[in-house]
Amino acid sequence: AKREGGGVRSFFEPGMNAEVEKKRELEIDLRRALPLKQFHVEYQPQVRLSSGRVVGFEALLRWRHPLRGPVSPSIFIPVAERIGLIGTIGEWVLRTACQSAAPWPADINVAVNVSPLQFRSLDLPEKVVAALAASGLPPSRLELEITEGALLADTAEVLQQLRRIKAEGVRIAMDDFGTGFSSLSYLRKFPFDKIKIDQSFVRSSNHDREAQAIVRAITALGTSLGMTTIAEGVETPEQLARMRTVGCTDVQGYLTGRPLSEGEAAALVARILHV
Ligand code: C2E
Ligand code: CA
Ligand code: CA
Ligand code: CA
Repeated sequence: AKREGGGVRSFFEPGMNAEVEKKRELEIDLRRALPLKQFHVEYQPQVRLSSGRVVGFEALLRWRHPLRGPVSPSIFIPVAERIGLIGTIGEWVLRTACQSAAPWPADINVAVNVSPLQFRSLDLPEKVVAALAASGLPPSRLELEITEGALLADTAEVLQQLRRIKAEGVRIAMDDFGTGFSSLSYLRKFPFDKIKIDQSFVRSSNHDREAQAIVRAITALGTSLGMTTIAEGVETPEQLARMRTVGCTDVQGYLTGRPLSEGEAAALVARILHV
């Protein structure tokens, strides 16, 4: 049965060949992106609801290819993970974000996304310490955003690295909370400081009573565990009002600010927004 599978035949179909070829070209381009300086980082404001102050920025990686134009990270990050590039790229983002944030006022933080695969080499804590040292950014102003996927495999190794990172004074946020299978048990097992409520809950809370109840429950849970909660993907004044009602600490989204260039972010740091 194995030999008669359509796999072999379809491999030689012209359409399939073109697919494989396109995939390989994207990989080749991605391998060259860092040396050719095609990456940059944008910074999206995170706003404290109680004061309207910008309290931090999430660093978001951007790839502008000369022919392809901008390529979305949701396209190229998975490719980078698959071909073993994410360690190098992730380290570059970490260093770049720390450099950008170092001149900001002392109470403004930067959050950097960390791929699950960056825990594989076991030296993430050393890379974090090195990025902080090179930039002069105090550890208390750095936050790492980790999705549940990071925690699934090799729990002991990941936990040990997270503890070492936290011991330096860096904070850890659980990203996309509520979208995985085991969000609750991971909250108990790992030392998070912050919960990022996934934008799918924020979005559907417009008309969806269940989603709103979930956001309320997540916020209450975070608060009782001494964690900050931030709602992501807030696009409308109605969503913002709801996040305030359910007790979220912070919001992030197009309503309070799109991802900005380094220069634009630096100009915004001292501003108070009317939220
Ligand atoms: P994420 O970590 O959940 O980041 C939030 C995404 O939501 C960003 O998309 C952001 O631009 C977008 N966003 C922010 N506010 C709004 C809003 O109000 N409405 C809507 N519809 N979207 C909003 P982006 O920049 O395309 O990044 C997509 C994903 O790629 C990120 O999701 C993250 O998982 C990954 N990513 C981005 N930069 C990095 C990085 O440096 N390292 C790693 N490992 N992953 C990254
Ligand atoms: Ca994130
Ligand atoms: Ca997220
Ligand atoms: Ca996401």
